[in-house]
Amino acid sequence: MTDPSTRTNPLGVHALVWVGGTGPDDVRTAVEKTKAAGYDLLELSLHDAVNLDTAAARAALEEADLAVACSRGLAFDADVSSTDAATVERGEKLLHDSLAITDELGGKHFTGALYSALGKYGAPLTDQGRANVVRVLGDLAAEAATRDMTLGLEICNRYETNVINTAADALRLADDIGADNVTIHLDTYHMNIEEDSLDAPVRLVGDRLGYVHIGENHRGYLGQGHIDFDGFFAALAEIGYTGPITFESFSSAVVSPTLSNDLAIWRNLWDDGMDLATHARRFMAERLPGRPS
Ligand code: MN
Repeated sequence: MTDPSTRTNPLGVHALVWVGGTGPDDVRTAVEKTKAAGYDLLELSLHDAVNLDTAAARAALEEADLAVACSRGLAFDADVSSTDAATVERGEKLLHDSLAITDELGGKHFTGALYSALGKYGAPLTDQGRANVVRVLGDLAAEAATRDMTLGLEICNRYETNVINTAADALRLADDIGADNVTIHLDTYHMNIEEDSLDAPVRLVGDRLGYVHIGENHRGYLGQGHIDFDGFFAALAEIGYTGPITFESFSSAVVSPTLSNDLAIWRNLWDDGMDLATHARRFMAERLPGRPS
């Protein structure tokens, strides 16, 4: 267990708290506001990466002295958990392109639902689909290792994937992929739906935890819902987790043309991203021993 006084989890915020797109103006705004709200890291979704100017984004991040992490899910027509070879191939290409973008931005973590579309599946995962996930992510992990990067398997709820819904599922998948740089990514929003508690999965994952999303059960203001954040943060301290902790929140006030629909963001839970983000940063810091709030 790490001495609490030396734990320095980078605190991150998802760009959708600020802006819906990843065009040059949006990225500049996201970087400025992330810095102003006191965060260390900006998470960019690569769903709309066609508009992303990676060189300009990297320069803005470096100027602000911010770390970056990238996330994404796949799509039903580009899905490595499919049994259709062409669909798997399109998903594989998206993953390799997104890994390269993350690297070009200076990011060390590429995470998310890297194993399937983000959406409701109408049937369980097939054995062939799972074998495709294992093969593709094994190759992606090897590519990531040459770039000194880690992959995160973000565990999502049953309405957003049929591949991994619990920490136990994710550990089995990571074991089958069998690469040291494949880490587990826990998200309190998804855990609230699928797990028995908010603390036991953290202990189960232990030193294989590589990335964390903090989200309320309705994905709005932290503390307004019913998630046991005290139990979750206590378990993080217990396992000595020192990796990124990123606040994720979505409202119909800030919309991505693709990701917001994939995540079923139909409600307005907030309008003022700065008030939301500064509140969230304080909320998280108060639960991290030694971290100034
Ligand atoms: Mn998440």
